[in-house]
Amino acid sequence: MNQKVVMVKRPQGEPDDSCFQFVEEMLPVLEEGQIMVKVIWLSLDPYMRGRMNDVKSYTAPMQIGDVMVGETAGVVVESRSQHYQKGDCVTVHKGWQRYIIVDDDEPRVMKVDLANGTLSAHLGVVGMPGRTAYFGLTEVGKPKPGETLVVAAASGAVGSVVGQLAQVMGLKAIGIAGGAEKCRYVKETLGFDDCLDYKEGDLAEKLRVACPDGIDIYFENVGGDVTRAVAPLLNPGARVPICGYISNYNATDISQVQTPFDILKTAKHVPEHRFFVVTEWQNQWQEATEKLGQWVNSGKIKYRESIGEGLENAPELFRGLLKGKNFGKQLVKVADE
Ligand code: NDP
Repeated sequence: MNQKVVMVKRPQGEPDDSCFQFVEEMLPVLEEGQIMVKVIWLSLDPYMRGRMNDVKSYTAPMQIGDVMVGETAGVVVESRSQHYQKGDCVTVHKGWQRYIIVDDDEPRVMKVDLANGTLSAHLGVVGMPGRTAYFGLTEVGKPKPGETLVVAAASGAVGSVVGQLAQVMGLKAIGIAGGAEKCRYVKETLGFDDCLDYKEGDLAEKLRVACPDGIDIYFENVGGDVTRAVAPLLNPGARVPICGYISNYNATDISQVQTPFDILKTAKHVPEHRFFVVTEWQNQWQEATEKLGQWVNSGKIKYRESIGEGLENAPELFRGLLKGKNFGKQLVKVADE
């Protein structure tokens, strides 16, 4: 038997339990060229909230009755494929479920090489969020040694990698995070030059002190008040890779949201800025995972995971992610490894 989580209602604001339904179904027999994956880890990611709205963005929205979108990591338990054997570890982009049957030529099935990191790390630091940090920073941020970079959600899956990569590349890295504990971790464990607590208030003044030479790259993860505090400090020629703006994701009226685009165009020095999606570089994902794995293995990139137990708790953990309850990459342990 499989169990999957289906979206049965579009949320207004925070996605409450009535938006999700747990559905059980018999697993079909495998066809030639298919594999069956037992899911061990489910990744919870902020973008899932956007896909629940009936709004077209860079990908189509989910429809009522669809399995909740998402990536999982697991083990092949049955194979009728020449490319995968029983026991292989894989990541699959087929949503919140316990078992996944998938064609072996689907582009979003990737074999996991545990030399690059643990199975769960393939959903985080060496997986999609790590690759997002890597491509967003290098391709859109265009970092140069000696520059100052600011990134918010700095203890999280993407932000933590952005700041550590910036340091590897010779930049000054200033993080922004919610609360003293997260800020201490970003500064002391991840080695950022500084980390500012936006919840304490006076962020604009704290940024002015932490960035005496202004800001050359602002890696946009959160939007809203944080972007408003950053914008006046952007240097001429600054770059802003717009990765996401989580502070707006639960907005009840999207038409009222002031996006980073609205805010940045009013800056004194309007930066070079664009939204990017990690899939733009999908043909280079394997290479990026190997590079990230080397940085992790050499200790240059550290990471942290926030692990929740049980698929049944995924909706509550997802709500927590959207308000900063996670501390590091949010995962759900669906079954034992
Ligand atoms: P994180 O692991 O960073 O978790 C989300 C964090 O966002 C929370 O822990 C919280 O950190 C912060 N946050 C939540 N609400 C607010 C708020 N109202 N104001 C400010 N900060 C808030 O998530 P990810 O690293 O997975 O994602 C970070 C961003 O990257 C998101 O915007 C996401 O949509 C985007 N993304 C984009 C991709 C792309 O291809 N464009 C791919 C992957 C992610 P704190 O407690 O410190 O506030």
